Amino acid sequence: MSLTPDSFADLGLSETLLKTLIEIGYETPSPIQAQCIPVLLEGHDLIGMAQTGTGKTAAFALPLMEQIDVKLMKPQALILTPTRELAIQVAEALQTYAKNLPGFHVLPIYGGQSYTIQLKQLSRGAHVIVGTPGRVMDHLERKTLNLDNLKTMVLDEADEMLRMGFIDDVEWILERTPEQHQTALFSATMPEQIRRVAQKYLVNPREIKIKSATATVAAIRQVYWQVSGMHKLDALTRILEVEEDFDAAIIFVRTKTATVELADKLNARGYAAAALNGDLNQQMRERVIEQLKSGALDIVIATDVAARGIDVPRVSHVVNYDIPYDTEAYVHRIGRTGRAGRTGNAILFVAPREIRMLRTIERATRSPIAPLTLPSRADVTNKRVADFKGKVAEVLNAEGLDFFANIVSQIAEEQNVGAEEVAAALAMMAQEGKPLQIAGEDPRPAPSFDRDSRPRPGSFGERDDRKPRFDRGDKPGFENRGERPRREERPARSAPSGDMVRYRIDVGRDHGAQVKDIVGAIANEAGIESRFIGRIALYDESSTVELPAGMPGEASNALKRTRVRGVPINLRPDEGRQDGGTERKFDGERSFKKKSFDR
Ligand code: AMP
Repeated sequence: MSLTPDSFADLGLSETLLKTLIEIGYETPSPIQAQCIPVLLEGHDLIGMAQTGTGKTAAFALPLMEQIDVKLMKPQALILTPTRELAIQVAEALQTYAKNLPGFHVLPIYGGQSYTIQLKQLSRGAHVIVGTPGRVMDHLERKTLNLDNLKTMVLDEADEMLRMGFIDDVEWILERTPEQHQTALFSATMPEQIRRVAQKYLVNPREIKIKSATATVAAIRQVYWQVSGMHKLDALTRILEVEEDFDAAIIFVRTKTATVELADKLNARGYAAAALNGDLNQQMRERVIEQLKSGALDIVIATDVAARGIDVPRVSHVVNYDIPYDTEAYVHRIGRTGRAGRTGNAILFVAPREIRMLRTIERATRSPIAPLTLPSRADVTNKRVADFKGKVAEVLNAEGLDFFANIVSQIAEEQNVGAEEVAAALAMMAQEGKPLQIAGEDPRPAPSFDRDSRPRPGSFGERDDRKPRFDRGDKPGFENRGERPRREERPARSAPSGDMVRYRIDVGRDHGAQVKDIVGAIANEAGIESRFIGRIALYDESSTVELPAGMPGEASNALKRTRVRGVPINLRPDEGRQDGGTERKFDGERSFKKKSFDR
């Protein structure tokens, strides 16, 4: 079984990192980690075919950290990522793994951030640099980044870098790295150009691919909820409350810590829940499973390993609270329901950046997973009322009701009210602490995923994209620098509104520039969402691009220094056409997708 056969201790990692992994609750390596870590520790170059959600960050980060000499305050590893939000995420992951490595320093550098800050940080020194290609290139040219001590180079999401038009920049950087270093390339797909880069710059690489074995999952209803607008815990309890045939559930999370935390939170909300993880000895484990069987527990929150082989027929639901690392794990997880000839239900929570994994699972299981609409407050209320009525109806048939009927009559008479009012008062008493109505707002519906959607440059998350950005005191389309951008699938495009200004840039068809290169560079370097980028006209030696009026100085400065195809674009307001090239209209997402993202 490819379900993470090894423990981290078998992979050759140092005691310090092993201790950290225990502390942060990682129980077993994911398949990509189990395969990549030993190979990287042995010093081989590596091609890893893996997507977000597989645990690929730790797969390259942990071995890379073993190589770092903390006493030498020089960049010893460089990780290139397609977007700045990924750069930040990867840097944060490294910082977490470095919690027991005093003095370890990782620095994210990306377009859009002030040079002054970056120069200060670079001069202070860092062991690992995580950056977007454009900005890394810039610092290499300015000699503010020196790679003489480089031991490891990682290309993360190489196919995304290709799609965003950064592959020349990546090669430019690879040309300037010292001869002797290890290179790891991670990519979800392996287009020809990425293969070519790998052949040119990697030395005898080992290739690791997590196979997605196909499997049938017949009697199970499969749905997914796209995480957005509401906390996962709130969504979970809403869903569980209204699921028709709910009896018992196994909820899968990634870490031991998460099993305990979620069990505590569900208990606090009145569920009979317990954690099942690798810290429990065999006896304790069996006890939890027995309790689930007998009905003393309704919910078990488990890690993959701890839940292996559980066979409890009353498990009506499996919830993938954290997405599994691969399709085999998914199939194994959902196989915990639908047992003994019953139908089962599998609910998958998918963060926007994990959409690719969802599609991989659908392909491997050959069954579509339908989107789940989160129950509204009214749905929950209706269900609670129906349950309440059901309970009352049961009691109406119970023996000994006469005694209470007599009391009700007495109260009605004494209070001079009808029996209905007395019943209402009693119902209220009975529901004390268990309200039939839930407070708060309904979340707005999540933007649904385009079947074929992929992350696009400059699409940053967790904001309400339907509201014009000016509401927030920002300029339309420009990233708010105070916020941490996070990646998210972009909702359907709305046309740019407001005034647009046409700019000219010094790069055109003769430089080999394409629309996608320009969109990628502007989106990434200036933090302008691609839907706010208007028409782009390509001429021979220059191009024009329309951007929202009122560009903040910082973004405009960043764009002056941005390069496309290695040429500084020197963005400035356009003063009329200069050469006789034909105009190519870039009309936002549709042509972006067609022209730029065809594989
Ligand atoms: P990635 O695919 O690298 O983006 O990782 C996805 C998520 O899985 C991150 O939140 C990691 O912290 C988590 N993760 C990675 N490896 C493990 C592991 N072995 N055990 C538990 N969680 C993990």
